[in-house]
Amino acid sequence: MVTTHNLGFPRIGAKRELKFAQESYWKGKSSLEELTGLGAQLRQRHWENQAGLDQVPVGDFSFYDQVLDTSFTLGNIPERVRGFDGDQLDNYFRVARGRSAHDASCNCGVQAGEMTKWFDTNYHYIVPEFSAATEFSLDASRLLEQLAQARALGVKAKPVIIGPVTYLWLGKAKDDSDKLALLPRLLPVYAALLEQLVAQGVEWVQIDEPALVTELDAVWQQAFVTAYDALKNTRVKLLLATYFGQLQSNLALACKLPVHGLHIDAINARAEVEQVVAQLPADKVLSLGVINGRNIWKTDLNAVLEWLTPIHQVLQARLWIAPSCSLLHVPVDLDSEQKLDHEIKSWLAFALQKLDELKVLARALNEGRASVQAELAQNQTATQSRRASPRVNNPAVKAAIAKIDAALGRRHSAYPQRATKQSALLNLPTFPTTTIGSFPQTAEIRQARSQFKSGELDEAGYKTVMQKEIVRSVREQEALGLDVLVHGEAERNDMVEYFGEQLDGYTFSQFGWVQSYGSRCVKPPILFGDISRPKAMTVEWIKYAQAQTARPMKGMLTGPVTILNWSFVRDDQPRSVSCYQLALAIREEVLDLEKAGVRVIQIDEAALREGLPLRKSQWNEYLQWAVESFRITANGVQDETQIHTHMCYSEFNDIIASIADMDADVITIETSRSDMELLDAFDNFNYPNEIGPGVYDIHSPNIPSQEHIVQLMRKAAERIPAGRLWVNPDCGLKTRAWEEVIPALTNMVAAAKTLRAGV
Ligand code: GLN
Ligand code: ZN
Repeated sequence: MVTTHNLGFPRIGAKRELKFAQESYWKGKSSLEELTGLGAQLRQRHWENQAGLDQVPVGDFSFYDQVLDTSFTLGNIPERVRGFDGDQLDNYFRVARGRSAHDASCNCGVQAGEMTKWFDTNYHYIVPEFSAATEFSLDASRLLEQLAQARALGVKAKPVIIGPVTYLWLGKAKDDSDKLALLPRLLPVYAALLEQLVAQGVEWVQIDEPALVTELDAVWQQAFVTAYDALKNTRVKLLLATYFGQLQSNLALACKLPVHGLHIDAINARAEVEQVVAQLPADKVLSLGVINGRNIWKTDLNAVLEWLTPIHQVLQARLWIAPSCSLLHVPVDLDSEQKLDHEIKSWLAFALQKLDELKVLARALNEGRASVQAELAQNQTATQSRRASPRVNNPAVKAAIAKIDAALGRRHSAYPQRATKQSALLNLPTFPTTTIGSFPQTAEIRQARSQFKSGELDEAGYKTVMQKEIVRSVREQEALGLDVLVHGEAERNDMVEYFGEQLDGYTFSQFGWVQSYGSRCVKPPILFGDISRPKAMTVEWIKYAQAQTARPMKGMLTGPVTILNWSFVRDDQPRSVSCYQLALAIREEVLDLEKAGVRVIQIDEAALREGLPLRKSQWNEYLQWAVESFRITANGVQDETQIHTHMCYSEFNDIIASIADMDADVITIETSRSDMELLDAFDNFNYPNEIGPGVYDIHSPNIPSQEHIVQLMRKAAERIPAGRLWVNPDCGLKTRAWEEVIPALTNMVAAAKTLRAGV
């Protein structure tokens, strides 16, 4: 018999119940008991949702983040929150977000823990903090409580924990000490944790070690040997779980570690399955992640069965099946969707539907395909309809992709010639000032948008409100004395959704929320078909804005790589092909803006860096098509048209050559928080074009002073010729209030004047 299990379930709730409960508690509007009560309810519901599986994860629920949970379980709590009053959960929220519910009155606000991306997903975890002095001590209460609840409900519980090596790998030593030196101190705590689970009668524990899919040197590989050797005498059975990629040079290591079972991602590492089957000792369980836990497509069950049946024949009861990774990365329930097109909906599977697929596969293997004939036939119909649908396949788009050549991505002249023509036309001062695109999304804007959506406001009425906002932001920018203006993006709900809604090949869910961090969720648009642009998307708005002023107005677009990286994308063609399709569509928009007389066009690639593969050895391939996609989008314009791009990060050093390759005339980047540290990259690399290092940290309510901005820019001018520097904020201003934006930009413009005067 094949065993079915799940690695983790989305915790936020099908209607984002957890989000609303967290936020209400943080605002002091509800009690701790209400929050923990809701947590218990959600867990119960989610276990019920997973009923029918042979093993159900317990401990995957979290009030903020599973890595922070692990830090608390291991007693690795930052010094700065020790000794405060309140429940343990309050301290937990202090580390997560800098403050808890009661901290306004007790002055307990602290520096929030650093947050970073969980492998190559869009989920962000709180980075464990280490130093040479870090000690660990076990507090298993959270896990034991959840286990007791599961047990009382009759759940076939399999506790889930993050393994010791991955835990160290995920953290940061603040004092630059060697993290791995902590392993001997950490292992006894893990051993004690496992003993506590044994005492509860637990049979299997899932121990996540996704670090095994990254490039590990010999020292880290040895840490795995040491760790699992130390845990091998535990009386629970360990299922070592890896996911998100291939094991490659860690494959032999993963197979020989002294655990009872190994889970691998049979979506991303399908090619390695045969090798693992051959190498895994005959007494071990092999769990195959055969349902994609990262996307929203139905699995082709018949194809999986074809492939899986011979493996099942070899492994028999040693075969377990599961989603490839935790379902944290997909929305909960497709059945909640009322507005999705019927045909497209038939191609999709969210978390609950993916678990149903798993059960169908298990029955087919255990009882024969005839036992699930109807389900398999239905699945085949859906798979075939998707493959053949004219809504997915657009021959004109495919033909355009086939015609792409290098010339499409090349400007007519090199930057120095272009720069001369552009400066003659734009006539900008040195240290020109600009902003990144959005201005505050005011209550009026949000109200008009929701009234327009609900039909209370007609299109003309909506347009009038948005135009009023555009006029307002143009007037404010003129009064501030900014040099290159923006229209403010009032009409845009989200920089990806706005374009997705206007492109063919995209659709949207109502409840397809996925946790990004803490209470923050995103609802990625669904790219299902060949992409085309039925008509111009932004030209009317930009033309209207340009007509309000004599100063240059920037056209504002989101780039193909960012649109791709922030969407659920197709699994039936390489990401690169979807990206090129987006590039051709946005290119048309660029050319239409140029035709409409727009002289400066910004194409945001906020998320270009996020798409980098987990392994450095694969970076080049990604950067090659990502950069080419941007070039295709941007570089069809005349020399006189100035192309800007914007990026939202400061770790830049390792990809600066690729960024230069994009050949934008101007790039604006996030730097203000890192004190221009980013510019270190420029010591070894001579960035050839213009650059605006952000001087106003828009993520903070603080107003930067004129002196501070001047000082930052002078630092920048040590590395980059002053004639190629721009003065601008870090990012868009939509989350700020006008009361903050006006004084900050006033100081920014004054700083630019000081710099020009050279005093
Ligand atoms: N143009 C966008 C804005 O200003 C850019 C947002 C982003 O980089 N995340 O809001
Ligand atoms: Zn940004």
